[in-house]
Amino acid sequence: MRLGIIGCGNMGGGMASQLVKNGFELTCFDPSPENSGKMAALGATTTASASALAKICDVILLSLPKAAVVEAVMAQMLPDIQAGTVILDASTSEPATSQAMSAKGAEHGFAFVDGPVSGGPAAANAGTMTMLLGGDADAIETLRPALDIITAKTVRVGGSGAGHAAKIANNMLCAANLVLVGEAIRLGQAAGVSPEDLLEGINAGSGRSGVSEVNFPKWVLNDAFDSGFTMGLMRKDVGLALDLAKSSNVDLSGFAKIADIWLNGSSDIADSDDFNAIVKTNAREV
Ligand code: NAD
Repeated sequence: MRLGIIGCGNMGGGMASQLVKNGFELTCFDPSPENSGKMAALGATTTASASALAKICDVILLSLPKAAVVEAVMAQMLPDIQAGTVILDASTSEPATSQAMSAKGAEHGFAFVDGPVSGGPAAANAGTMTMLLGGDADAIETLRPALDIITAKTVRVGGSGAGHAAKIANNMLCAANLVLVGEAIRLGQAAGVSPEDLLEGINAGSGRSGVSEVNFPKWVLNDAFDSGFTMGLMRKDVGLALDLAKSSNVDLSGFAKIADIWLNGSSDIADSDDFNAIVKTNAREV
């Protein structure tokens, strides 16, 4: 396996460090000199373009900001992708983009698998991410030696695009839970229950979630707000849920109010801030 990573930021850089640590010879491309320099310091080979990487790698992992960037990078690489290559898109992208790339792969002789991840930079650095996979089962098995290093759990949720659809649904719930657990804590405080006691109760009961078990103790109650996942990325994911609902003709009226808080009701929080900061905006008086 000649393995390459395109997009070596918080997530891609963490995956790269695990792979190098576990003996993979890795080639990396990132247009940011800072992130490219970090990859060189890890011991990875760096290239000057995505195309240069495609010429020498037969397994290519993408960890890019959004679908439009995935499409642009794929268009640049297309003439140089070798037959038999497997591309794994670990970005949070869009089902339609993966399906289009997978169809291009069928024409040009490569496989395109969508494998968005959960866990954040800490899990990427520790090799403990969860990955939701969509695509050809044989192509996924080709990826297995690398998946075993970068993930603690993989779930194949269906064919091309299914991984992104599942990830969008997952982040829709995470976005909703952040707002709702924040409200539940304020409700408890108004009734004389401390946030710590309330969370202990919720986490022993049926209202618990990843947000109540992980986000609040790890990043909110201690005022750390340093998860490595930004408001801008979660706003993108909230928008993706609305877009997917529209194109699939699904009514998300319950989620609509929450989405409005993320997209319009929190303009005092910058895109670059930690995504857990949404709990602060929602503390306004009603
Ligand atoms: P990031 O901004 O830290 O990293 C993105 C990297 O892509 C940057 O290094 C950037 O230079 C690079 N890049 C941008 N344009 C490029 C191009 N044309 N060619 C090559 N590289 C390019 O973002 P991140 O937090 O690592 O997130 C990456 C993806 O993973 C996103 O889709 C995000 O939604 C998803 N994700 C992030 C988290 C998290 O907690 N940070 C968790 C799960 C999923």
